[in-house]
Amino acid sequence: MAGLDLKDIQKRFGSVIAVQNVNLHIPHGRFVCFLGPSGCGKTTLLRLIAGLEQPTSGRVLLEDRDITDQPAHQRNFGMVFQSLALFPHLTVGANIAYSLRIRKKAAADCRRRVDELLELVRLPGYAERHISQLSGGQRQRVAIARALAIEPRLFLLDEPLSALDAKLREDMQLELRMLQQRLGITTILVTHDQREAMTMSDLIVVMGTDNQVHQMGSPLEIYRHPADTFVADFIGTSNLLKGVCGSSRQVTVSGKALSVEVLPSGVAAGSEVNISIRPEDIFVLAGAHEGENHLQGRVAFVRDTGSSVEIYLDCNGFQIISQSTPKSRPAVRQGEPATAVLPPAACVVLST
Ligand code: ATP
Repeated sequence: MAGLDLKDIQKRFGSVIAVQNVNLHIPHGRFVCFLGPSGCGKTTLLRLIAGLEQPTSGRVLLEDRDITDQPAHQRNFGMVFQSLALFPHLTVGANIAYSLRIRKKAAADCRRRVDELLELVRLPGYAERHISQLSGGQRQRVAIARALAIEPRLFLLDEPLSALDAKLREDMQLELRMLQQRLGITTILVTHDQREAMTMSDLIVVMGTDNQVHQMGSPLEIYRHPADTFVADFIGTSNLLKGVCGSSRQVTVSGKALSVEVLPSGVAAGSEVNISIRPEDIFVLAGAHEGENHLQGRVAFVRDTGSSVEIYLDCNGFQIISQSTPKSRPAVRQGEPATAVLPPAACVVLST
């Protein structure tokens, strides 16, 4: 299948395992984010794809061709690093044309391509400016244009937006995503910012502290159907309730049997599991109520942010967080009894 394949990749630095057991297929033309906590191996995996590191074992294939031993400069990939690595003594135009000049392109072709790229990244007429005369966002755009100059087969970005302030970062996320969609270029972005990954990606690869891939899927799949407890906890806010599997579709949490729709395959009755349920899937009723999947408790805190209302309930030793919109705000007050209702379909059971 067209795209990039990573087969049984492992990378060690001495005794440190930076990446292990990685098997991925990245389809052509998609925007993919490598997401995970610091040190989980995202950058190493990107550098392995770029050819800037060699795997200890495993193979890298592009369009079914083994490129593991191909040097980085022959791969024709565009890269943008966090540091941007622009040449400060060169103009914008000379920065963008740099890789074209190395490839001995004619001066007139270089000028035409620079103008085209400046148009693309919304900096028309900036060719003669010096890098020191640009804002953070403009430098970002120059780095992107420079990486795209060679019409790369893959576009690789390592946390390129992390130095920008929040507003500019959000603008650049959208801009970059729209640019990628326009060009249809396969793009991989390393980030530890889940919001960034959720906003930009067709597919997210979630890596864990064990330096392995835990899940690959669309942002919605990963959010709604996390593969394990690590993913459920790392992506968004999740209520994680420790429980024990019953014989039918039930999980006992703190002595209370909760109905669920699906149990993970291979999990036997009596096994310890976690239920993951998103705050927006939980309803809160004022007062104490009995019923299926009703957990009674007391309101510990109400956080009203204007656009959403979060209710923190103490339920016999564990905490439940629910989230609703101001319009569907339950009539509860701090310190009063309340009941959390957990719809069975929203309870995702995960092995521990
Ligand atoms: P961050 O988000 O902090 O950049 P990351 O997920 O990108 O982290 P990597 O930079 O890939 O993680 O590092 C993975 C592991 O490999 C870490 O334990 C790191 O210390 C180690 N590592 C990375 N590069 C080297 C190197 N050149 N020599 C030794 N260890 C390294």
